[in-house]
Amino acid sequence: MSRRINRRDFLRGATATSLLLMSARLPHTFASERRFAPVNVSRDRVIREVVGLRPYRASGFVVDAEKFGNKLLVHNYGHGGGGVTLSWGTASLAIDLARNFVATKRARRFAVLGCGVSGLSVARLLQRYFQNGPGTVTIYAKALPPDTTSNIAGAWWSPTSVYEPDMVDTKFDDQFLRACQISNRAFQLLVGPEYGVRWIQTYELMRNEMSVERELAGGNALYPAVAIHRDPARYFGFPVVRESTTMLIEPSIYLSALLRDFYIAGGRVVVKEFRNRREIARLPETVVFNCTGLGARALFDDEELIPVRGQLEILLPQPEIDYCYLSSAYMFPRRDGIVLGGTWDHDDWSLLPNAEQANQILETHTSIMKSLKSVD
Ligand SMILES: Cc1cc2nc3c(=O)[nH]c(=O)nc-3n(C[C@H](O)[C@H](O)[C@H](O)COP(=O)(O)OP(=O)(O)OC[C@H]3O[C@@H](n4cnc5c(N)ncnc54)[C@H](O)[C@@H]3O)c2cc1C
Repeated sequence: MSRRINRRDFLRGATATSLLLMSARLPHTFASERRFAPVNVSRDRVIREVVGLRPYRASGFVVDAEKFGNKLLVHNYGHGGGGVTLSWGTASLAIDLARNFVATKRARRFAVLGCGVSGLSVARLLQRYFQNGPGTVTIYAKALPPDTTSNIAGAWWSPTSVYEPDMVDTKFDDQFLRACQISNRAFQLLVGPEYGVRWIQTYELMRNEMSVERELAGGNALYPAVAIHRDPARYFGFPVVRESTTMLIEPSIYLSALLRDFYIAGGRVVVKEFRNRREIARLPETVVFNCTGLGARALFDDEELIPVRGQLEILLPQPEIDYCYLSSAYMFPRRDGIVLGGTWDHDDWSLLPNAEQANQILETHTSIMKSLKSVD
């Protein structure tokens, strides 16, 4: 993902790039001894096919506040293909927008619309900052985990497919970078089996040198242990491979853990679908956070918000796979299955798996694995 670059970013990027190039010139180090267990890609190992709709806005997510009668309405939606990644960051920025109102109006009750990763993160932070007994925060949502888009996410920590670089303004740029930093830090503190978050090496498989000059999404500083490999015989048959380390999140474990924490802290959940703003105006809470993902399009007339459809083929788990890779397609090894993805269909609302795309995904990954096996 590229984005508008200012001078500071340029210098940071240039330094990082020279470091990368230097490391690429080093003689073989321990990294070249890396062995990759192959993913067994075959149709008869597919355990499920899923489709999700990324809530995408070309000009980026909305984190903004507006007066709404006697209430404050704070929006936090439209995170595209990076909603899990950005969740703690945008939740924190959204809550900052409400602080003055909360202090001056002495608000004591909060409503959160939506129970995906955005709503749950806002709800947990509200409990941490403003807890004043059970019922401080109520989540209202049409669907709960495991039936949210957040459960479908590949949930690799990287803020990619979030916006169109030419479409964003500096306000968004600042929010984006800040959200990345806050969120990265917050996820680090949740690493472990309880929240289903772990560090993992990732390999970006590239056809040419130009791609390697691109900064990693959210800034190179957020990715430790970057190395460039120009050794196709060892690295998936690709001429240039960028290795970095980031986090992988298991949505089923993670979202259940957040919901559990929310209940333990006295949170309330009401299953309810809102059809218009009038229904929101009738809520008893004076501060309302809109975390309805793609639902915000109809509820708040945001026509820029569109679905970017993604289909995933999930294979039987292989605990020995300890790396991710991305090319035109991606592979994330999770406990609940090996996630194979690689489709981004703009403005496509279909939730049905498509057989042709399934074949395409399986073929792409089969071919990557062939190159890997021919190495041994
Ligand atoms: C195939 C795929 C792969 C992805 N991979 C990644 C990845 O690797 N990393 C990453 O960070 N992100 C990834 N994403 C993106 C991520 O899933 C989304 O950005 C994120 O889930 C958005 O979360 P959310 O809480 O805003 O929305 P949702 O999870 O959609 O939650 C919205 C909530 O609002 C409720 N709601 C909606 N409308 C209404 C209404 N009218 N009334 C009441 N309730 C309502 C819903 O029921 C739900 O509870 C991926 C997405 C897909 C589809």
